Amino acid sequence: LPLAPNGSTPVRALTIAGTDSGGGAGIQADSRTMALCGVHACVAVAAVTVQNTLGVSGFHEIPPQIVADQVRTVVGDIGIGAAKTGMLASTAIIEAVAGVCREVGIGRQGSIPLVVDPVAASMHGDALLHAEALDAVRHTLIPLATVVTPNLDEVRLITGIDVVDDGSARKAAEALIALGPQWAIVKGGHLRTSEQSTDLLFDGDTFHELPARRLTTGNDHGGGDTLAAAICCALAHRYSVPDAVAFAKEWTFRCLEASYDLGGGHGPVSPLW
Ligand code: PLP
Repeated sequence: LPLAPNGSTPVRALTIAGTDSGGGAGIQADSRTMALCGVHACVAVAAVTVQNTLGVSGFHEIPPQIVADQVRTVVGDIGIGAAKTGMLASTAIIEAVAGVCREVGIGRQGSIPLVVDPVAASMHGDALLHAEALDAVRHTLIPLATVVTPNLDEVRLITGIDVVDDGSARKAAEALIALGPQWAIVKGGHLRTSEQSTDLLFDGDTFHELPARRLTTGNDHGGGDTLAAAICCALAHRYSVPDAVAFAKEWTFRCLEASYDLGGGHGPVSPLW
């Protein structure tokens, strides 16, 4: 992505998500990705997780009004080119975020593109979303999305479809689009049966297949956040959605290649440059 010269105002983006005390995923991955992509990161904290490389042992939700106020105050002053949501934890936070997004023009009905990463659980299976909030994810959050980026576990939770091959991936993409986002990605990274890691991108009209070589590493914490944040950066630079996703896939592949050991569990997807 084009870098602004030092001293000039860069493109800005906003992440509305949860923190990771271990520095691997969530807001830490988002703001690191944005900085490395030359984008100034604004952050609206929705939840604070208690987390290390071994898992998430608890979280604290920020009052919904404070989450919405963070969004409103940033958009009103700094201005943003794109936004993304990550861990939103509860129905009340999702409703507050959706409300403020509609108010300030974030989302597919507004002028500021929105990437919705419908975060439900960590890779260890620790819940990051209350089960009762799934309906709000489906019917309040996803319809706002310029692009929604679930992994296969999230696809199953949201649509009830178990993606096992190309046919079921297409069915899942159609089910996601029926909820109202402009574009949906079904990420193939967790489909371990395939040699390739093919993502499927769909706008209700055309399927775009985005193949990549599968890269297996135990250090893949924060991979989904990194992909969604990189899409958000490219959208802030006014890339089209297919171009933004292609950029973000390449970016995330390079971050996976540069991932490193940390603690006793899964290290982060992140370069140090
Ligand atoms: N913690 C937070 C705050 C997150 O937003 C996410 C993912 O989106 C995770 C943890 C889980 O990341 P992973 O599935 O890579 O462990």
